[in-house]
Amino acid sequence: MADNTLLNVEELKVYFYTYAGVVKAVDGVSFDVRRGEVFSIVGETGSGKSVTSRALTRLIPSPGRIVGGRILFEGKNLLEMPEEELRKIRGKDIAYIFQDPSSSLDPLFTSGYQIAETMTVHATADWKNAWKRVIEILKDVAMPDPHKRAKSYPHELSGGMKQRVVIGISVSNKPKLIIADEPTTALDVSVQAQILKLLLDLRKKYDTTVMLITHNLGVVAEVSDRVLVMYAGRVAEIADVYSLFGEPLHPYTIGLLKAVPNPLKRIERIEPIPGSVPDMINVPSGCRFHPRCPKAMDICKREQPPLVQIRGGRSVACWLYAEKNS
Ligand code: SF4
Repeated sequence: MADNTLLNVEELKVYFYTYAGVVKAVDGVSFDVRRGEVFSIVGETGSGKSVTSRALTRLIPSPGRIVGGRILFEGKNLLEMPEEELRKIRGKDIAYIFQDPSSSLDPLFTSGYQIAETMTVHATADWKNAWKRVIEILKDVAMPDPHKRAKSYPHELSGGMKQRVVIGISVSNKPKLIIADEPTTALDVSVQAQILKLLLDLRKKYDTTVMLITHNLGVVAEVSDRVLVMYAGRVAEIADVYSLFGEPLHPYTIGLLKAVPNPLKRIERIEPIPGSVPDMINVPSGCRFHPRCPKAMDICKREQPPLVQIRGGRSVACWLYAEKNS
């Protein structure tokens, strides 16, 4: 593990035991997150990106179970930590921002109360000091008229303002890692860019690390330092953002980039990826992308490609590169 590694995930497996069969939503995912970076996980719906992010602090609802792997946060395995100890980390050292701010906020309490409460629960401030911090935090999240908005209930706030309160709650305990799961998807397009910029500003101001979960490649290109591409519960590729958009290696990443306007290229022809995402109960053998891959070989149908390190600190799970390395 490199010195600046904050989080190290090894062979994480999260399965859902449904009546229809076992859904291997996350199946052997490994990556690390470095201090101070914006690390994005991108993938289609059902790729396992949100399940991965929730598994980090064991927020997996039934019938899901974490069935394997290690999650080292500052060297401590969160999967072996007693629940009481983990609760102290969740919301303090690791904070979440979810897609829909309305469901993250309690409609019965003012925004100021909810920010202050987060600090008192984790004992980073007593009530008197927490209330003092509330206005500072609302200013930090660029809330218009913070004194008035501290006394507002969620229903009195716009979607963008609610998300600012949620972000305020997430930074209130000065977390080491903020996990933002589709933080702009539920917001008006006009507000999305402001919220992304706010996240970047707060990363610097609060000296924190951001893990961004998104399906939106435009968002990824705009804010990320490094990117993990997920497909059907597995890692396809991990690369710095410039390499990923400039020279994607995995055929799925190449397909993804051709399927949307490339934010780093001016001229492009949009080509959808043929086929559809697999049924996660009956996933294809070998490489899960093989039925849709234009470069599929015999080995791809039989054997799962390992995640191999390539030049420049990149990793890719594809037999095209595993063969080159052998
Ligand atoms: Fe395509 Fe084979 Fe690489 Fe999978 S392992 S992405 S099927 S070439």
